[in-house]
Amino acid sequence: MQIKRLRLSGFKSFVDPADLRIEPGLTGIVGPNGCGKSNLLEALRWAMGENSPKSMRGAGMEDVIFAGTATRPQRDFAEVSILTDEMGDEGEVEIVRRIERGAGSAYRINGRDVRAKDVSLAFADAATGAHSPALVSQGRIGAIISAKPAERRAMLEEAAGIAGLHVRRKDAEQK
Ligand code: ATP
Ligand code: MG
Repeated sequence: MQIKRLRLSGFKSFVDPADLRIEPGLTGIVGPNGCGKSNLLEALRWAMGENSPKSMRGAGMEDVIFAGTATRPQRDFAEVSILTDEMGDEGEVEIVRRIERGAGSAYRINGRDVRAKDVSLAFADAATGAHSPALVSQGRIGAIISAKPAERRAMLEEAAGIAGLHVRRKDAEQK
């Protein structure tokens, strides 16, 4: 699976709709301090189902919504879309996450409303996801070096593409 396109609207500093084509071979984002590099990586992880506001550098999840500046009012929603070339048995798949103030998050896969878990599972089966070691965000190298063995094992399981099995096992145990 390859991510071909990332679209954002109202997400953090990306108040205006932004449409980024991700070409094969892209390995990093460069730019001046504060231009939004980390926000872009966070948008990817967020649309994949990241649920920890702290890892989005916020106190609550609504903090990902554009908060306003001296010249522009805040936004009421944030939306991020990921377009993949294929996923499982399907061809192009678009995953969208949207959050509205006071209304929480909603997910869509190819226009169909789905649960957060469906999105996490879809990415886990494609051996990637919000916690994939392939997404090296700021401070991540230090975190890997100082990780406890159990945390490092979780990283290896993500890399091996078996992380989704834990979710399914937990599901089965609850039934
Ligand atoms: P550095 O090189 O320092 O790591 P960076 O390119 O990674 O910088 P980011 O951390 O992605 O930059 O972007 C920081 C900018 O995003 C700041 O100007 C911050 O005010 C802005 N920002 C973050 N959250 C929001 C929000 N909810 N609404 C508006 N702006 C936001
Ligand atoms: Mg940064």
